[in-house]
Amino acid sequence: MTRDGVSAPDGTAPVSDGILKSDDGAVLDWLLDREPVPGVHGLSAFLQPIADQWREVVLRVLFELATKQNVPLPLLWLYPRALPALAHLSHDTDGNDPDKARQLLDTLAVADVPATWCVIAPGYEKDLIDTVRRAGHELATHYDALSDGCHWGREPFDAQQRFLRELFGEEPVTNKNHYLRWEGDTEFFEWCAQGGLLMDQSKGASKTGEAGFNFGTCHPYQPVAPNGRVIPVLELPTPTQDLHVFAPEELAAPLMAAAERHHGILHLLFHPAHIDKPQVADSIIRVVRTAQERGLEWWTARQISAWERARRQVTWSDYRSGPEQTQVTLCAHSALKDATLLWLCPKSSGQAAVDGASLSAKRVHFWGFPFEAVVMDLAEDSAYTLRLRSEES
Ligand SMILES: [Zn+2]
Repeated sequence: MTRDGVSAPDGTAPVSDGILKSDDGAVLDWLLDREPVPGVHGLSAFLQPIADQWREVVLRVLFELATKQNVPLPLLWLYPRALPALAHLSHDTDGNDPDKARQLLDTLAVADVPATWCVIAPGYEKDLIDTVRRAGHELATHYDALSDGCHWGREPFDAQQRFLRELFGEEPVTNKNHYLRWEGDTEFFEWCAQGGLLMDQSKGASKTGEAGFNFGTCHPYQPVAPNGRVIPVLELPTPTQDLHVFAPEELAAPLMAAAERHHGILHLLFHPAHIDKPQVADSIIRVVRTAQERGLEWWTARQISAWERARRQVTWSDYRSGPEQTQVTLCAHSALKDATLLWLCPKSSGQAAVDGASLSAKRVHFWGFPFEAVVMDLAEDSAYTLRLRSEES
């Protein structure tokens, strides 16, 4: 980021505001890539995760070819327990008002979900910080390069990280920048990686009219440096901010539908500073319930990061397909509880086996294709032989 972005022509997203932030680098089109938010007159948003759609074009072509050639293809599904998608709540503690923090804690207790609290320095009193952690929430950092006396740079970033690590009494793994501040290219990701942070959430929407998938994805992704090197940090974009304050509650439905359709993560950000405004607490509880009813689980960013990293370390080898059965070896380097193993196959066989033991397979449909799914625990540094009996036999 070296300059302000171009604001939306309809006036709903004035990103050219003299403050450098991630959305100034937007590459999507205000006119072609947004669509009206159903039920909200005059508001358009990026409701399609376009990069995910392109990736799915490739996946679907591969699945179509495998189906045509009668090749049973093994896959490790994105989530445990064959979940269709995940959901994630983050809270940026701007202002650090302890009463509002307690109100939000009460709301989350009613909703019964864990959340990621991105704490801005100087943070809450130590007692309240401990209360947040004891309630099962994640303590994360909220780098401030906006407030008076706070600047963008490696040194102030490291200093705030040290201060918050001391306050938390543990290593944070997640960060989101205050106001989604961003400067330069991928240098910030390098600061995160070198400082031990595993996940960032600073790519997202700072203005209502750019809500949605303005970075093209609802999946965590690894950034790539200009020289092509993959930076070992996961970015989980922030597609919206407080419902009812930043965007109408109607926005939640299309975002959730997109996360389900593209098997990604519904990420909602609520600031404790707005918790006492009308409808906000109720809308958190409503959206949590709705997502759960649709089969999504609410995870912290720490959980998402740990799962995603473990999942990406799994390798396949020794694929052999014969007239009676297909077999393949899966190696897991980190443990994955309730991992979902998939076989692409047009007809249900229900005959999957792992290391000789037969497991009941369930029929699922992802990306428009039918799979046999088996749920099992993968242990750290272990190998498994998977077999699928052919339908004809
Ligand atoms: Zn903030």
